[in-house]
Amino acid sequence: MPGKRENSGSRIKLKYNSTMHICFFDIDGTLILTDGAGQEAFVQTFTDEFGVGRWNGKVEFSGRSDRAIVADLFSEFGIANTEENWERFAVGYIERLPETLTERTGRILPGVKPLLETLHSRPDLVLGLLTGNIRAGSFQKLRHFGLADYFSFGGYGDLHADRNQIAAVALDAAKTHLAAIGQAGLPLSRNHYPLQSVLVIGDTPNDIRCARSIDAVAIAVATGFSPYEDLAAAGPDLLLNDLSDPTPLLSLLEEWKI
Ligand SMILES: [Mg+2]
Repeated sequence: MPGKRENSGSRIKLKYNSTMHICFFDIDGTLILTDGAGQEAFVQTFTDEFGVGRWNGKVEFSGRSDRAIVADLFSEFGIANTEENWERFAVGYIERLPETLTERTGRILPGVKPLLETLHSRPDLVLGLLTGNIRAGSFQKLRHFGLADYFSFGGYGDLHADRNQIAAVALDAAKTHLAAIGQAGLPLSRNHYPLQSVLVIGDTPNDIRCARSIDAVAIAVATGFSPYEDLAAAGPDLLLNDLSDPTPLLSLLEEWKI
């Protein structure tokens, strides 16, 4: 079933003489589902490192940064939210995640691999990550599913709890990457960059909001943790049931071609 176009306002109809597109992907629920491997690694880390004996599942995980989730869990379990405890969590989590990924039966979501292959081969486009996962966890997950090589830069959940701040970091990382591959002169600053050529693809209303925070086009995909109707209500520029048909996304990119 083809994707439904939501909120196709003036932003999409504008044509920019941009020569590069930046496509940021969220990870969980967008590229992959880990069958709870990430959350299991959280539980094991809190149990082993902080002696938490009872996990009541009150804290929301989906669409949030690891920093924000951990801060809530620290509060929930009466653990001081210090940098030292954060480090202790991060080290413990990264130690445990590879095993939980192996134990669980996660999967790559429909159409993701061919879509990444198609986008990665385009000279007018770079792929980045915009995720609440910490950087090391992001790449452990992506390596597990054979997707790590498509990505070399992004914004991650290590430094900021707020996904909008992560989006700003991701945009800066994209600029640095473009400069490094000889595209310096294009993305000099947020004010001078044709921001409508920045896409954020994610599975929750939080992804849509953080796309808006950097004036990016928001593409929502209903393969993760938010129902289609909730995503529609958040007003993405493009809403897809899944990524199995690349046509709507590729058509969107064509609208900005010179
Ligand atoms: Mg997600």
